Amino acid sequence: MDKIQIMKKREFETNAIRTQMERSSFLEHSSPVYLTSSFVFEDAEDMRASFAEEKDRNIYSRYSNPNSSEFIERVCKMEGAEDGFAFASGMAAVFNTFAALLESGDHLVSSRNIFGSTHSLLTQFLPKWKISHDYFGITATEEEIEALIRPETKMIYAESPTNPGVDILDLQLLGKLAKKHGILLVVDNCFASPYLQQPLKFGADLVIHSGTKLMDGQGRVLAGITVGSHELIDKIYRFSRITGPALSPFNAWILSRSLETLAVRVDRHCENALALAKFLEKHPKIKRVKYPFLPSHPQYKLAKKQMKAGGCVVAFEVEGGLKAGRRFFDAIRLLSLSANLGDTRSIVTHPASTTHSKLSPEERQETGITDGLVRVSVGLEHIEDIIADIAQALGEE
Ligand SMILES: *Cc1c(COP(=O)(O)O)cnc(C)c1O
Repeated sequence: MDKIQIMKKREFETNAIRTQMERSSFLEHSSPVYLTSSFVFEDAEDMRASFAEEKDRNIYSRYSNPNSSEFIERVCKMEGAEDGFAFASGMAAVFNTFAALLESGDHLVSSRNIFGSTHSLLTQFLPKWKISHDYFGITATEEEIEALIRPETKMIYAESPTNPGVDILDLQLLGKLAKKHGILLVVDNCFASPYLQQPLKFGADLVIHSGTKLMDGQGRVLAGITVGSHELIDKIYRFSRITGPALSPFNAWILSRSLETLAVRVDRHCENALALAKFLEKHPKIKRVKYPFLPSHPQYKLAKKQMKAGGCVVAFEVEGGLKAGRRFFDAIRLLSLSANLGDTRSIVTHPASTTHSKLSPEERQETGITDGLVRVSVGLEHIEDIIADIAQALGEE
C-alpha cells in the first residue's frame, strides 16, 4: 500500500527489476528490508485518518509493509494484474482466497489434479464450513465440466501444468465456462511461474502462486501470493488482514530480489528440463516420459499455446514399477531427494509415497500417479551432470 514508482509499460524482465519501492532518505540503490511490525503517525488526526482509510499508507505489517507491497507490485506487473495480497505460504494463499470469497453452502468445481494439500483442504476442511466440491479429470470435455456447475457453484479451480503429472489444462476453455456462468476462475500458476504463463490473459479472475518454488528459486523461503482485480483482492485483503497470514517483510525482500533473476533462471530450468526429457525419451529403462514441450506430450499443442516454455518439471516412469523406482532413488548421488521444486538444485521425488501419499489408491489411479512415477525438478547444475546422475541411477555407468 506504500507508494511504488509507477513505470510506463515495459518488458517483463525490466518490470521484474525496475519495479521498486520509493527510496528512503539514504538514497539506497537496492531496496532495504523494513523489519517493523508497525508504523508511526504524525498526530491524532493522521492516526484517525489512517485508520479510517482516508490515507493509503502502512499502519501495521499484518495489513501491509513496504517489502510485501514491492513483492506484490512486481508480481502484478508480471501477471498483468491490478492488485494482490502476499501470504506466508502458498497454502495460506489458497486457503485465504477460498475463505474470503466462498460462503457456507457454496460449491466449487475443481480439477482433480491439484496440489496434495489443496486436495486435503477441499476434502477434509472446507466441508466443515459446508463448502463442497466436484472434481473433473484431465480428459474431461467442455460438456462434462459444465455439467458439474450448479446454482451454488461459485468457482472453478485449476492448476496447469499439474503436479506431478505435468498435464495441461485448457485455461481459455475454463475461462469461457466461468464467464458464461458468472463464476470465478482461480488458477494456481505455481508450476509455470508468471514468466511462462499468465492465466489472466486466458480469462482467469485470480492467480495464485506458491512463491516457495520458482519465484524464490533457491529453496530458502516459504511464500504465497494471490493477484487479480482490485475488487476481488480487496475482499481477500479485508479477510486476510484480520486472519493474519501476512508474509514476513524479510521473506518478501528475499522474493523481490529473486524475481529480478526469474526470467534468466526459468529459461535455463526449461532448457535443462527439455534436454533431460529428450534423453529419457530414448532410454530403454524408461516406460514413459512426460514434459509439456516434448511433441509426444498429449497436450503439446495446448502447452505451446499457453506457455512460453515447458517448465522445470519432468515426470517419468521407470520400467519395473515400485521396486525399480526405489532402487532408482537409492542410487541417486548428485540430485536431492526432497519435496521442493523450482530450486537451483535438481530434486527427485516419488509422489506416490510422499506428496500424494494421502490420496487413496483409487484417487492416485484417477490422477495418473502410478507407483513407478518419478518427478524431477530440473535445476541449474550443468545438464551433463544432471543427466549423468540419472543415467547411473538407472543402472548405466
Ligand atoms: C507447493 C505448492 C503449493 C503450496 O505452497 P507452499 O508454499 O508449500 O504452501 C500450492 N500449489 C502448488 C502447485 C505447489 O506446488
